[in-house]
Amino acid sequence: MCISKHKGNYHEPQVLFHDKNGFVVRCQECLLYQVTFGNVAIDMYQEDFSQIANFIDQKVKLYNDCLPKDQKTIFIKLPADGIKMVFSYKELCSFNDMLQTTKLLLLAEEHSN
Ligand SMILES: [Zn+2]
Repeated sequence: MCISKHKGNYHEPQVLFHDKNGFVVRCQECLLYQVTFGNVAIDMYQEDFSQIANFIDQKVKLYNDCLPKDQKTIFIKLPADGIKMVFSYKELCSFNDMLQTTKLLLLAEEHSN
């Protein structure tokens, strides 16, 4: 996250979502988001966040419970070459809950401005 990159200039991160599986924080200065789930943390800007949230939502609907719940069978490509996130259907649903809840919060925020 940018907070560690700014020397002597601390950027306060805002926690947008947090549960036992992961969290979403945003730097109020740079508007950089950090999405953490399991052992992976991904930094992104809001446009990418919205795209990923939509993409994961589609995946969840596509697989709609037809896969074994607890086996890691779903591979999601990351922008970095050769790195993927691997989910069970259950984990993908938790990840999606996190993204969709945060997305709703961002929408509400947009409308209140
Ligand atoms: Zn920052």
